[in-house]
Amino acid sequence: MAIVIIAPTRDTRIWAQGLLALDPTLEIYEHPHVPEDVKDRITCAITWLHPEGSLSVFPNLNIICSMGAGVDHMLADAQLPKGVPITRIVDPALAWSMSNFVIAALFNHHRNWEHFRKQQAGKRWAQADLCEVPLRVGVLGLGVLGKDLAQKVSALGFYTAGFSQTPKEVAGIESFVGASQLDAFLQAVNVLVCLLPLTPATENYLNAQLFERCSPGTYLINVARGKHLVEEDLIPAIHSGQLSGAVLDVFREEPLPVHHPFWEHPNIVITPHHASLTNPDAAIPQLLENYRRSIQGEQLLNTVDRKKGY
Ligand code: NDP
Repeated sequence: MAIVIIAPTRDTRIWAQGLLALDPTLEIYEHPHVPEDVKDRITCAITWLHPEGSLSVFPNLNIICSMGAGVDHMLADAQLPKGVPITRIVDPALAWSMSNFVIAALFNHHRNWEHFRKQQAGKRWAQADLCEVPLRVGVLGLGVLGKDLAQKVSALGFYTAGFSQTPKEVAGIESFVGASQLDAFLQAVNVLVCLLPLTPATENYLNAQLFERCSPGTYLINVARGKHLVEEDLIPAIHSGQLSGAVLDVFREEPLPVHHPFWEHPNIVITPHHASLTNPDAAIPQLLENYRRSIQGEQLLNTVDRKKGY
């Protein structure tokens, strides 16, 4: 039994060392340095953005672990070994970080800090009319991250609604479910936070037709995945007034190309996929626990439903 780590964009040595620090008996290989005669001993793959087909060379996998919360990168691989359970990271610190990021974005919008930064640049002292338009915050996706955020926003005193596939009962949050309640959800809110997983059903979800159904002046915050947004639909929706602006942490192409029109738009705030980063110190014990469970044949933690895609 051995582990392979396949994560071309990450420093796999840190992850291997972290695992070995907890269990020095582990046999770990870092892609692409896996000897041919070891491949059939690999039972666990730990991955992030693995190259297409790179998992199919291990015939005896019995667990595939995402190194982060998302699994869209994994499920996009047409050669992903069938029938092998997939797990992901669920970490309270990841939710804490995400909620803090979105709440910071909400308050920047709410109290118009952009306006005061501009005044400061001109050494201008002028109290603006305090137009604290109450935020009505809609969270698309009431999963691990969306629920944490919605509860905290509600505790701040703002109307909060959540949209999901299945009904939720969360104190202080109005739950909207499925396509038939999407219009009511969109009309109830003036800030839309996307925390959906990326699946075939949610790809291109944030598009011109959806923006048309929002209440005018809705503020968009996308912290989920770049492919949720039809990028060419965003600026026209801002110019028409249907949206008032956006905070975008994720993009179809990352890093965002230098000539992309989003960079220079005054109503768009860009952050470099930084809303909430996986902390190896929290993730590594989870990976090890699931590896142990896979060996013992015990129920795995934080498994992904391949059919649903999250
Ligand atoms: P979860 O899988 O825990 O939750 C997903 C939620 O979305 C569920 O409530 C689910 O509904 C709902 N949902 C799924 N499909 C639909 C649909 N078609 N219509 C309506 N609702 C739907 O996800 P997480 O909270 O862990 O992650 C959310 C997103 O955040 C992911 O895209 C992830 O990749 C991203 N992310 C971004 C980071 C960043 O730094 N920018 C960091 C970490 C994660 P139901 O509960 O009814 O099944």
